[in-house]
Amino acid sequence: MPKRSSAISSSTPAESRAGESFADLLARVRACTVCAAHLPYPPRPILCASPTARLLIVGQAPGRRVHETGIPWNDPSGDQLRLWLGVTREIFYDETRIAIVPTGLCYPGTAKGGDLPPRPECAPLWHPQLRAAMPRIELTLLIGAYAQAYYLGDRRGRTLTDTVRAWRDFAPDVVPLPHPSPRNRMWMKRNPWFGAEVLPMLRDRVGSLLAAGDNGAAPHQ
Ligand code: SF4
Repeated sequence: MPKRSSAISSSTPAESRAGESFADLLARVRACTVCAAHLPYPPRPILCASPTARLLIVGQAPGRRVHETGIPWNDPSGDQLRLWLGVTREIFYDETRIAIVPTGLCYPGTAKGGDLPPRPECAPLWHPQLRAAMPRIELTLLIGAYAQAYYLGDRRGRTLTDTVRAWRDFAPDVVPLPHPSPRNRMWMKRNPWFGAEVLPMLRDRVGSLLAAGDNGAAPHQ
């Protein structure tokens, strides 16, 4: 589970630093206050990451419950995602194998009954640094429109459905996915190709990736 670090002293905590340990990078991330003025609560970046992770899951941003508990995907959407991936909770939360880094690391607040978008400062600030510090990532799952917009840019389709349907265009490094919320059941029904084509491929890929990780080379530290 992610742990909050004690504050570290730095006037430019988001600045990339050569030769920095992964622990120090995580400490800088967890001490970030870059967009604090725009957040409803004091910043609490929620992520699971380690330099040995093989799979990276990029979602939207923590919701209020995740902000309070510090545990990402600990809800029915997370249960559905684990089913899609064919992994247990134990494996899912093993950050030495699976990194979970949302597009926005802190809860952005809610308006008109829905969560606000991830803060736009966050992904450009932290994703390149975290991604560079996780050299063993072989597969990145982009869950939802914000993750797809950040990572795919103009390569994504006109709609989320178009992007997910074009999953072969992004293989083998990236798989775009819809949000696994139970509220998306209708989307699943309207798009049966997702369950027939994408999910079997995803399960196979994740299974072989994590199995290979057990026997992989010594991790970069
Ligand atoms: S959302 Fe991102 S940029 Fe903003 S305070 Fe949290 S970690 Fe920093």
